[in-house]
Amino acid sequence: MALLELRNLTKIYEQPAVKGISLTLERGRILCLLGPSGSGKTTLLRLVAGLEQPDEGQIIFDGKDLEGVAPHRRQFGLMFQEFALFPHKSVYDNIAFGPQVQKKPPDEIQRLTQEMLELVGLTDKAGRNVADLSGGERQRVALARSLAPRPGLLMLDEPLGALDRALRERLMLEIRVILKTLNMTAIFVTHDQSEALAVADKIAVMNRGRLEQVDSPEKLYLHPQSMFVARFLGFKNLLPGNITPDGGVQTDVGLFYPPLLSDVTQNSVTLVLRPECARVASPDSSPAPMPVISGRVSSRLFTGQSYRIGVDMSSGVKMVFDLPNETPPPAVGRQVDLNLKPSGMVVIESS
Ligand code: ADP
Ligand code: MG
Repeated sequence: MALLELRNLTKIYEQPAVKGISLTLERGRILCLLGPSGSGKTTLLRLVAGLEQPDEGQIIFDGKDLEGVAPHRRQFGLMFQEFALFPHKSVYDNIAFGPQVQKKPPDEIQRLTQEMLELVGLTDKAGRNVADLSGGERQRVALARSLAPRPGLLMLDEPLGALDRALRERLMLEIRVILKTLNMTAIFVTHDQSEALAVADKIAVMNRGRLEQVDSPEKLYLHPQSMFVARFLGFKNLLPGNITPDGGVQTDVGLFYPPLLSDVTQNSVTLVLRPECARVASPDSSPAPMPVISGRVSSRLFTGQSYRIGVDMSSGVKMVFDLPNETPPPAVGRQVDLNLKPSGMVVIESS
């Protein structure tokens, strides 16, 4: 049985902020709410936390309907981007705060606090004032503080939003390991798709208060089900096309044969070419094993892991591909022939 179940949850301000959301979350799993600013992520968290009342729908936790249950009685943990640490207290006292409020016995408070300090790697900084810590360290204290009372559910609202990229990448992996170590059930809100893919067991993509798609990170990336999700994941090569009688997709750029086309029921579709599906075609691979497209290189960026190239097709369509870093692609202005792997193609039905 799911630990948390949202049934048709709706919250209306002037406009609906959350509309008809139904979701389940299993114990020990991490759910990411992913969506652009204003899509209703924070409102959904506040409803679950009991800080807002839904206009419709139910929140079931551990088999109980939470209607009328005050926020503090729900015993959920919250961690926000603007973490409200006590700036003049030590790291230790900040983390011990929750168990103290819970009136745990002193030795239990000490045990929980020590355990959290170890888990976030701040044992040697226990006596420091939090005002003297780096941004990343403060974020670890905030995490430890929200975890120390051992909430039944932890909700994190864009917890890494204020940090620089390198630190964010490190901390998001740390957070996942820490939550998993404690078998914590968590809802992690972010507008950053790479953060969601790295942290989540399950991702719920939100758009204007509604759910667009709920899937594992792998499934979401490999099979985005709508244009919104494809765009939000950062896919640039979205080609309008029509299904051909022999089971291909005709686009302005060419005829392609993506996998799983038998599942498609519409004639008019969008073909997504994922950026990693292209390779520079070698002149001697004849007949070409895969579809070949030709265009002019319009930009070339070495990112370390790959060469990101922009390609202008003769039809006027512009595309972007990530090529392996071993072989430098042709320079800007030159023609390039690319092989496209069918496994990197996804068909989205127009809605
Ligand atoms: P997100 O966290 O995804 O950025 P929010 O849940 O904060 O989105 O907001 C969703 C929508 O609800 C926005 O249009 C926002 O302006 C509106 N909204 C949120 N909170 C309130 C409020 N307290 N009063 C009126 N409108 C609100
Ligand atoms: Mg928000």
